[in-house]
Amino acid sequence: MEVKITPKEYMEYIELVAKRIKDNKDYISELDSVTGDGDHWFNMNMGFEKLLEKKETLEKMNLSDMFKKIGMILMSTIGGSSGALYGGAYIKAAKVLDDVEFIDVNKMLEVYETKLSAIMDLGKTKPGYKTMVDTLYVAVNRFKDALNDGKSEEEALKEFKKGAIDGMNSTKDMEAVRGRAYYQANRGVGHLDPGAVTMSYQIEELVDYIIK
Ligand code: ADP
Ligand code: MG
Repeated sequence: MEVKITPKEYMEYIELVAKRIKDNKDYISELDSVTGDGDHWFNMNMGFEKLLEKKETLEKMNLSDMFKKIGMILMSTIGGSSGALYGGAYIKAAKVLDDVEFIDVNKMLEVYETKLSAIMDLGKTKPGYKTMVDTLYVAVNRFKDALNDGKSEEEALKEFKKGAIDGMNSTKDMEAVRGRAYYQANRGVGHLDPGAVTMSYQIEELVDYIIK
């Protein structure tokens, strides 16, 4: 097994994410109504539906242009904090894909490291603030460590996925420092952060797609 993702394959992956989000309407809406204003599912669902509408155009682009376009679409359709953060993350990641025909395992790590630092910069957020960053941070570091330890690509991908799930679950007991949960009486303690959950969905689906 070797990571080698073309634009067409990336859009097949986007389709899986769109479905995963669509299928979890009640769960995500409920989480965001406890910790935020209840619109996170609606925002994300709209963004990914828009990507599917543009699938045929997007899959014909080169990776860098495709990422830039995905970022612009997500920024304008998701709205809210997550729209700006995902939009900015994709647009920054587009730069590391210049002149790249497919995403191999090292590029994949670079893309996710870039997305992580873009989201932390734009959101002025660190790990531990109860946001989508908690998922991404643990996932990226486990992925990087696995590759540095000389693990196989498949093993490293599995670490990436496990890291996402562990990072997501770690938000349950955190007190929010960013996002709307900060303004709730208990700062969201006892509930997963909805943005951390949808971030995990995206990483889980990517790993499952590649391994399959
Ligand atoms: P809004 O908070 O504007 O209603 P959404 O409901 O779409 O936007 O997204 C909420 C999610 O966005 C949160 O669950 C959290 O994971 C993430 N988030 C919010 N603010 C920040 C921030 N400053 N940095 C990182 N992530 C954030
Ligand atoms: Mg919200």
